[in-house]
Amino acid sequence: MQKIPLGTSNLLVSKVCLGTMTFGDQNSESEAFGLLDYAFERGINFIDTAEIYPVKPQAATQGLSETIIGNWLKKRGLRDKIVLATKVAGPSRLIPWLRNGKNDLNEANIRLAVEGSLRRLKTDYIDLYQLHWPSRNVPFFGKTVFNPKDERPHIPIGETLSILGKLIEEGKIRYIGISNESAWGLMEYIRIAEMKGLPRIVSIQNAYNLTDRHFEIGMDEICFRENIGLLAYSPLAFGQLTGKYIDNPKTHGRLTLFLSDWNAHYRRPAVLEATRQYMQLAREHGITPAQLALAWCYSRWFIDATIIGGTRPEHLKENIDAIAISLSDEIIDHINEIHAMITNPAL
Ligand code: NAP
Repeated sequence: MQKIPLGTSNLLVSKVCLGTMTFGDQNSESEAFGLLDYAFERGINFIDTAEIYPVKPQAATQGLSETIIGNWLKKRGLRDKIVLATKVAGPSRLIPWLRNGKNDLNEANIRLAVEGSLRRLKTDYIDLYQLHWPSRNVPFFGKTVFNPKDERPHIPIGETLSILGKLIEEGKIRYIGISNESAWGLMEYIRIAEMKGLPRIVSIQNAYNLTDRHFEIGMDEICFRENIGLLAYSPLAFGQLTGKYIDNPKTHGRLTLFLSDWNAHYRRPAVLEATRQYMQLAREHGITPAQLALAWCYSRWFIDATIIGGTRPEHLKENIDAIAISLSDEIIDHINEIHAMITNPAL
């Protein structure tokens, strides 16, 4: 498995990162250990988690994903072989149980969050500490329209960066990244860090897949010019791009287990139609739909690492095997034709 430096950091990460947001809900600890062992054997050294995981976030399970990873790292003695990424939650009405619903990206909350993550992960440092979503009003998680009426007080970016700088000096975190950010936010983090001599972000973790390529509208150029790595999440559109829900709409999986607003954008009719067309293209070329979708992500120049999810070992095998698939110009042209006809249907 190829390893590359993440952005401007000294972190050498595998091009495939293991996502863990099913650990502690869809996956038990013993299942998660099996997935972690398999991913490590296949050369994955990069693990992504978050303080609020597993998803769907609930008070009763919060932190279980990190706890399971911490137990695995300790049991296998692998901490120094793994690049560990986690995230602090931003403010949201959807998680009123986190820090009494008063969560935001200020010093008190970030310190509580980092201490909690370190304790659950059973480590004394986090390699990449990410802001899960912004403090300010920005559309994300399936929302795309910016609405000035939703403006509210928020923590200034410079204040958050200076707290993260203190945590780096204290040795609790090594590098920082952002997630679910807009082009304005991405540039603003860079500008303020340079202006005030604060730490510079090395990565941005945003959604990117065949049904949502909006990262290509401006954000890719910023990543190129500023040497920031995209960590692409939901590369299979929550599993939709595997085609399994087209083959059998009642198939057991995230999109049938959790029928809610949280994943409605990946169940839209236009997403289903695009998926049908990508499935046909994959099958015409003798690869699986999941492999077409992942080979696409693995071959995009602006993606440093693609964060895969999978609830079964056979998912991980199929998803990791796709790294060896090289998409021909003919397939890429065909993907772009489908994209031109059904552009970003998950947006
Ligand atoms: P995804 O690849 O779009 O969806 C993964 C789901 O698809 C799996 O849980 C599995 O679930 C199904 N699947 C995966 N491979 C399959 C295969 N080969 N065949 C059949 N089904 C398959 O990725 P994601 O889970 O949404 O995201 C990956 C990671 O990105 C997460 O774990 C998390 O670390 C990160 N993430 C971050 C954010 C953020 O806000 N920063 C948001 C989302 C995700 P089922 O068994 O349930 O079908």
